[in-house]
Amino acid sequence: MRDIPFSLNEHPSFSLPEVGLAVLGHPISHSISPILHNAALGVLSQEEPTFSNWMYERLDVQPKDLKKALDQLAQAGFIGLNLTIPHKVEVLDFLVDLDHEASVMGAVNTLIWREDHWVGHNTDGYGLEKAINEVLQCNFQNAKVLILGAGGAARAAATQAILSGAFLVHIHNRSANNLNNLLNLLHREFDSQRVEGSTSQSFSNDDFLGEDWIVINATSLGLKQGDPSPLFTPIAGFGRNSVFYDMIYNPPKTTFLAEAEADGFKHANGLSMLVYQAAKALAIWTGREISAKAMFHAANSHFGD
Ligand code: NDP
Repeated sequence: MRDIPFSLNEHPSFSLPEVGLAVLGHPISHSISPILHNAALGVLSQEEPTFSNWMYERLDVQPKDLKKALDQLAQAGFIGLNLTIPHKVEVLDFLVDLDHEASVMGAVNTLIWREDHWVGHNTDGYGLEKAINEVLQCNFQNAKVLILGAGGAARAAATQAILSGAFLVHIHNRSANNLNNLLNLLHREFDSQRVEGSTSQSFSNDDFLGEDWIVINATSLGLKQGDPSPLFTPIAGFGRNSVFYDMIYNPPKTTFLAEAEADGFKHANGLSMLVYQAAKALAIWTGREISAKAMFHAANSHFGD
């Protein structure tokens, strides 16, 4: 991986057996996706040497250039792309072929070039669920799931939880406007009795006191050192089998997670979600099963663990 992300004016081109993969975003320099994917490709190439010709890069692409990027990169031999902020929703304007998850989540984080067009997938919901299963040893089926936030990541989390049979999904958000937009969308798509929401002005502590919940932080509160927890009620009030998952992984321990730890609850940060969504994307591109082990190892070395 090059130190500085590529731009649309100076990215490499590939011809078979060389294959290009990339993550597109703006900004993009913080992305560790190339570290994860190139580590897993290294492992794959030990068994199948052709994968040593596959390379994953970062491209800084502004929103106005997204369509041009999709056309240009297909021409240049890129067969797989990841999309991150701010492209996950906007890309829908340029796609005619979406998988079921991407279509119900209204967002795409993975593209694969198939013959003459890009096909959109969403692996974020899968990544979250796999992380919750593997790292927190619990699952969405019949669970009460509290999602903090109502942006794109919250929508993916809510959809995945509902598709996987959650008993109840409660969305709590700072602003009523964004909360209502998400609730309306989910109510249109799913059984509305399983989806409810609140803001700080409208929640009732009784819904949470002594009850076991899977609590997921899908807000960006916590990204900055010193940010408070987005939780609106004392953590000690939750049932003892509640678990706490923060989609944020950098910093590795947000106030939300530090409070969960202090009160003895199971908790984990979003690195596992990042890894599992990446492993699923690479599986889509290569048609191979991807072990997340090499990706975890590379991520932990990067963050100095
Ligand atoms: P969006 O910008 O779409 O949504 C942000 C959400 O955070 C909104 O609900 C917003 O509330 C809320 N929020 C922002 N600031 C505050 C604040 N000061 N207090 C309370 N709530 C706040 O972002 P995304 O949904 O794309 O991402 C959300 C988080 O998830 C990010 O931290 C992102 O890094 C992480 N993420 C992690 C992934 C992983 O693989 N681990 C994958 C995808 C995302 P409001 O509606 O009121 O503005």
